[in-house]
Amino acid sequence: MTATIIDGKETAKEKREQLAKEVEELKQKGVTPGLAVILIGDDPASLSYVRGKKKAAEAMGMHFQLDHLDASLTEEELLQLIDQYNANDQFHGILVQLPLPKHISEKAVIERISPDKDVDGFHPLNIGKMLLGEDTFLPCTPAGIVELLNKTGVSLSGKEVVVVGRSNIVGKPVGQLLLNENATVTYCHSRTANISEHTLKADILVVAVGRANFIKADQIKEGAIVIDVGVNRLDTGKLVGDVDFEEAKEKASYITPVPGGVGPMTITMLAHNTVKSAKRTLA
Ligand code: NAP
Repeated sequence: MTATIIDGKETAKEKREQLAKEVEELKQKGVTPGLAVILIGDDPASLSYVRGKKKAAEAMGMHFQLDHLDASLTEEELLQLIDQYNANDQFHGILVQLPLPKHISEKAVIERISPDKDVDGFHPLNIGKMLLGEDTFLPCTPAGIVELLNKTGVSLSGKEVVVVGRSNIVGKPVGQLLLNENATVTYCHSRTANISEHTLKADILVVAVGRANFIKADQIKEGAIVIDVGVNRLDTGKLVGDVDFEEAKEKASYITPVPGGVGPMTITMLAHNTVKSAKRTLA
């Protein structure tokens, strides 16, 4: 079997066109969706992610503001800046780009962002709502993955899902969202005794580990849907996922490429959450 490629770029483009229309409608009602991004330090990957967010937000007609601050910023200064954005009606979404310098507590920062402007979906209140299946801001990468899966037209209900990786931003929430869709979910992580034993049962395999070509074809069930979240840069400069794509595409029914799979959906779902937040102000 040669897999159908799940085209994240195309799916993201369609969704962004729809969001641009919604932004226009909001503007006609006097509300311009606004996203404030705070970036601390000069991590090249973070700089590149923030550039992508700015470009996408502005292309959809949103108001985007970047505070690019020196790594010497104190935690208290950052928390005060977040308070200012929490109180500023021009901004419907606030995002502090992670990772943070070591002297700043990620937990304190995430918890300081108003749950009503938490467009990353990382605030404990929003995570709790997600767990309960209530309407909330869903974390962007997991929500983007569900959109990509829906794009295949394959029903998620009753499917065996295996998620490799259990981070708070990808692994755990994506498993929860798929559980909410009535899939049967298994998590694998660094202490899992025999990963292949689980992955070989997966109708849908989601891999979010952060190791180049970690999952090989012999760990994939024939006809499985494979979602590769990993982004790894090889010494050659090439960007690859966590799944050995060349091998896996001969085994899977559908597969996401890296780049051009999950990545474009993450930024799109951030815009989706910002528009959702702006709409709430009119409700
Ligand atoms: P993370 O926080 O480092 O978590 C990695 C997970 O992989 C952990 O749960 C860890 O298990 C597990 N793991 C590590 N080594 C393992 C092994 N040998 N066997 C089984 N499990 C193992 O990473 P993350 O933030 O979830 O990101 C994962 C990847 O996705 C990275 O490449 C990241 O760049 C990428 N990513 C992409 C996007 C996108 O938009 N495309 C967004 C976010 C992340 P333990 O919990 O036991 O340590």
